Amino acid sequence: MARGHTRQEDFLARAASLHSEAHREGVRGRTLKAQYPQARAQLLEQITQLRREADEVAQRFRQRYSAASDAYSAGEKALAKSLSLEGKSVQAECESLNSQASTLRGHLNSLRAEYESAFRAAETAKRQAEEVEIGAKTARTTVVKIATSAGGDDEAVENFLDSLPQSVLQHVQEITHDPNLAWTSADGRTKVESRRRTEWLPGGGVRIQIGSQPKKPGLSSLDVINATIAHELGHVCYDTLSDDSKAEWFALHTETPVDRFIAHDVFDNDEEDFAECFRFHAIEPKTLQKHDVKKALFMKGIFSMFVHP
Ligand SMILES: [Zn+2]
Repeated sequence: MARGHTRQEDFLARAASLHSEAHREGVRGRTLKAQYPQARAQLLEQITQLRREADEVAQRFRQRYSAASDAYSAGEKALAKSLSLEGKSVQAECESLNSQASTLRGHLNSLRAEYESAFRAAETAKRQAEEVEIGAKTARTTVVKIATSAGGDDEAVENFLDSLPQSVLQHVQEITHDPNLAWTSADGRTKVESRRRTEWLPGGGVRIQIGSQPKKPGLSSLDVINATIAHELGHVCYDTLSDDSKAEWFALHTETPVDRFIAHDVFDNDEEDFAECFRFHAIEPKTLQKHDVKKALFMKGIFSMFVHP
C-alpha cells in the first residue's frame, strides 16, 4: 500500500521539529552562558569607571556650589550667579554619567535573562516534544487520499476525522477517492455507479473508498465527503461492537415507529440505521437528539467508549 501522510506522521514530524527547537535553544543558551563571565567582567569594569568619574564630577559640583555660596555672602552677585550656572552644568554631567552606568547595569541583567530564557525555551520544547511523542504512539495511521482526485482538502478531512472516535479509525487503513467506483450486478450485465465501498481486508484492516458524490443543496463537497465517511465509519464501528451492544441496538431499531427513523430507507435494516445515526451523531447531534432521544443516548455512549484507542 502506498504510504501517504497520516496523523501519526504529522505527530512525529511535529515532535522532530520540537526536538530540534529544543536543541537550538539549548545551544544558544550554552553559548550565551559561556560568553557571560567575560561580558560581565567588561561591563562591571565600565560601570566602576563611570561611577568613579561621576564621583569626581560630584566633587567638582560641591566645590562650585560652596564657592557660589561664599560669593553670594560676600555680595558678589554676578560671580555667584556664574558659579551657580557652572554648578548646574556639572550636575547634569554627573547625572548623565550615573544614567550611563545604570544602562550598563540593565544590559548586564538582560544578558543573564537571555540565556536563562533560552534554557527555559529549550526545556519547554523538550517537554512538548515528549508529549507529542506519547500522542504519536496511539495516533491513527489511516492514509487519507481524497484531495488529488476529488478536489477536496485532505487536511480538512483529517480535522474532521480528529473529531471522531479514534479507536474506530484505528481499524481503517485508508480512505481514498475513486471517481469510477462501481459495482456490477449479479448477472454481470448492469454496472451501477457506487458512492462508497467499505471492505475488511484479509489482514484485518478496513479500506474505505469514496466514489463520486452527488451535489447536495446547502452542502459543500467537503461536507458531503465527510458525511459519507462518517456513515462508512458507522459500519466499521458496528462491526466491532459486542453481541450485547448489537442486540441492544437491534431492540432500539425494532421499537422505532416507521415515521421516526432518521433516514427513510433504513427502517428495514438495523445496520444502515446504525450507520446513519452514527453519521448524525458525528455531524449534527442535535438533529438526532430531537429525532430519537434513546438512539442519541446510545450513540453518545458508543462515542465516549471509542474515543481513545
Ligand atoms: Zn451504509
